[in-house]
Amino acid sequence: MQTVIPNWLIQRAFLTPQRPAVDDGWQKKTFGELHESVVKRARQLAGIGVRQGDIIAVLMRNSIAMVETIHALHYIGAIALLQNIRLTSHELVWQLNDSGAVCVIADEKLADLVKSDIRVVTINELAALPETDVEFQSHYHFDDVATIMYTSGTTGKPKGVLQTYGNHWWSAIGSALNLGLHENDCWLAAVPLFHISGLSIMMRSVIYGMGMYVMPSFDAQKANDLIMDGKVTIMSVVTAMLQKMLADLGERRYPETFRCMLLGGGPAPKPLLEACKEKGIPVYQTYGMTETASQIVTLAPEYSLTKLGSAGKPLFPAQLRIEKDGQPARPYEAGEIVVKGPNVTKGYLHREEATKEAIRDGWFYTGDIGYVDEDGFLYVLDRRSDLIISGGENVYPAEVEAVLLSHEAVEEAGVTGIDDETWGQVPCAFVKQKSGYSVTAEQLKQFCQERLAKYKVPKQIYFVDQLPRNASQKLLRRQLKSLIPNDDNGA
Ligand code: ATP
Ligand code: MG
Repeated sequence: MQTVIPNWLIQRAFLTPQRPAVDDGWQKKTFGELHESVVKRARQLAGIGVRQGDIIAVLMRNSIAMVETIHALHYIGAIALLQNIRLTSHELVWQLNDSGAVCVIADEKLADLVKSDIRVVTINELAALPETDVEFQSHYHFDDVATIMYTSGTTGKPKGVLQTYGNHWWSAIGSALNLGLHENDCWLAAVPLFHISGLSIMMRSVIYGMGMYVMPSFDAQKANDLIMDGKVTIMSVVTAMLQKMLADLGERRYPETFRCMLLGGGPAPKPLLEACKEKGIPVYQTYGMTETASQIVTLAPEYSLTKLGSAGKPLFPAQLRIEKDGQPARPYEAGEIVVKGPNVTKGYLHREEATKEAIRDGWFYTGDIGYVDEDGFLYVLDRRSDLIISGGENVYPAEVEAVLLSHEAVEEAGVTGIDDETWGQVPCAFVKQKSGYSVTAEQLKQFCQERLAKYKVPKQIYFVDQLPRNASQKLLRRQLKSLIPNDDNGA
């Protein structure tokens, strides 16, 4: 029998109505106040015809209004399709058609992006509408879909990931069992709520009764101020955000009140982890994806130094194994990362084949390659589809990129395989230089030779102004080759 528990925000507003729920720097609301606003919004949504089971797209920048809209959709029993606001009109419409969404709720400034017949209601229009009586979902059923998020499409066409109430619940519980819960915790959401990294903060906030600070878009200086002033105790970041915050921080050190910098979303360069270690920043590396409703593997604090570079061990409710040629891999042997747990998706929307391929015997095949050490700590190497095989040896682009990034003149680096008569494939690098620095391809190759086995050293290095990235700012390695100039002046 599936688990059914009371509606999260209604229950939270009943249990601890006075506790701070959301703060965006202009406005603050307690859980009691948040519930009242959500009731109003839900009635207005009912007024435009939103019904239980409908898929409603949300195209919004982080704000209290966005938090309220998602909760309001859940009060009615509708499914929120969270869309990345950096997508092109074409990509947005593709997702709307693919999902069968009936309507879009959009920020004023974003509404024009939707070039389709689908109904678009702006958040201001919604706020001015009359309220219609509607029956609220008094209970959440764990097998019901709460949200849909398309994967970033880093490796192929995006797929709509079904995230159930149970997935979000177990993700929040797994995180608390690892990071603990402190009385005055407040989690800074500077990552977008349309990504699972951001949405999971909103879910934890209501489930734990913990405050969240909503930042409309990431601002390193502002984030540092919030931490220095003791206003937030935990923050979720990706590498690029942490790098900017470190640069802004200078000689300052964070106060004791700041207890967790949760770093995920992609590989973490060792020099960055070491710089944080030196500054006493409590970085928790984590590994997860849209399909696991955020973290599934996180490095517990007591191992942050001894297992530097590891993404950690599975969260309490989850399991992990490495599979090579259909067999469990030995410690240190690289293979596909396979995971299981109640936070893992039940599949992709309208993609039976892709679902069957990804979920086998209850285990989710992540498409990422990694290994575990003798103590069971996970090290993520790279995505299976980006692997370069050179003369029979595996080259992980992320490892080569990390070395390039540790050079003082390198701002960004991307590595991919190019065809080679002798070796089948060889690594080729694309580098964006830091302004004010100058380095030659020969010097970079020399730098790599001192740090990498010969077959991993890029045979060609191209200097570029910009690397191809998707709407989530993730590197699109499959597009790197198109940067090779026709007259090929690579060195
Ligand atoms: P698509 O599935 O469409 O290609 P995507 O995988 O980039 O898109 P997300 O779910 O946002 O979409 O990202 C999850 C992926 O990010 C993981 O599968 C993994 O490749 C990468 N990742 C996450 N955490 C880490 C980490 N700690 N180290 C290395 N890679 C990570
Ligand atoms: Mg993926």
